Amino acid sequence: MPEAQGPTKMSSRDKYRFRRALEEIERAQGRGTELVSVYVPPDRPVFDVTNYLRGEYSQSSNIKSASTRKHVMQAIESIINRLKQWRMPPPNGLVAFVGHKDVGADQTSMIAYVLEPPEPVVSFLYRCDSRFFTEPLHEMLAEKDVYGLIVIDQGESTIGLLEGKRINPIKNVQSLVPRKHRIGGPSARRFERLHEQAVHEFFKKIGDLTTEAFLTRRDLKGLIIGGPGYTKDAFVKEGYLHHELQKKVLGTFDVGYTDETGLRELVENARDVLRDLDLMREKTLVQRLMDEIRKEEGGLSAYGEDQVRHALELRAVDTLLISEGLRKLRLQVRCANGHEETRTVADEATLPKCPTCGADFAIVERRDIVDEFGGLADASNAKVELISADSAEGELMLKAFGGIAAILRYRVT
Ligand SMILES: [Zn+2]
Repeated sequence: MPEAQGPTKMSSRDKYRFRRALEEIERAQGRGTELVSVYVPPDRPVFDVTNYLRGEYSQSSNIKSASTRKHVMQAIESIINRLKQWRMPPPNGLVAFVGHKDVGADQTSMIAYVLEPPEPVVSFLYRCDSRFFTEPLHEMLAEKDVYGLIVIDQGESTIGLLEGKRINPIKNVQSLVPRKHRIGGPSARRFERLHEQAVHEFFKKIGDLTTEAFLTRRDLKGLIIGGPGYTKDAFVKEGYLHHELQKKVLGTFDVGYTDETGLRELVENARDVLRDLDLMREKTLVQRLMDEIRKEEGGLSAYGEDQVRHALELRAVDTLLISEGLRKLRLQVRCANGHEETRTVADEATLPKCPTCGADFAIVERRDIVDEFGGLADASNAKVELISADSAEGELMLKAFGGIAAILRYRVT
């Protein structure tokens, strides 16, 4: 495995700033298809990207609408200029969002962001649309559980990390352990001893590499270990792991390979254990909420849409709990006479009439409420925990609290 420069790990503060930028980027709407999004993976030379953009620049001279044409060309030119400061992209690559956004009254204003994303960009992408293309960044910003992965037998071992749904291999090591073959007599015993010694050295080395890779990861939720046969169990039982990591071992699993394929197989086989852990975490969170609710005046709890929204606006929320079973929309509506309201509805077919003039409401903007609350939580740096609907805790969340509750940083009155 080549030793490439590792991805940059973003601090939570940087992530927060990134989220704020993303909010502005996502609010922007072009009057035509004139907002340009570019994703540059870390291994793509910048001159390669600027060449591509020059091609798009000359293509865009064919755009019929004069104002769209002008705006697209300006956006591409601006990105080319901004990219000049790099020869190669930074370790996570780059994302660029540039274009003229509609600001009403027949006016537009330029919005321009070139950012290093929180995780490496996977593939190059150019898009010109009436909205910026930001979907890949959401997966990057999601809170993820991190697990250490080890697959091992006497001949080979691979270490990796499971981050959310992604498996990142860290190191593959081949051992120098001689293969066993049948020899008789005294040389057999000598061979046996040498063999054991070599296995011991190999395990020790893998133990050290795991310490190096995992010990400083404070977010490491656990360690899962796989391999064919008994070797992996011997590795775990005979104390080759740092004692702090030993405590985090969640289990060992049979897998056929000890290379990168083995890591994938391991995650596949450990899926039930990982899901149980997820459910356990949900249980603990809802329990914590219930403990607060039982305290005098509700302790550090808030529940129900209005109360939680209020607490979020005051930045008082530590952890937002949302039921995955919640199906509601947050609508901004307007009537023909210009009266506007923001409402939460179960479905948009049951839209009420305007209470001021009785006219029908039309929808100006619609958002899934889980999305909307997620956005509010991001903006105030609160953690978001989705509680699955099919657990007892999830059902309680949905029935008793309308699917929305929060554990607070401080009490809100
Ligand atoms: Zn009205």
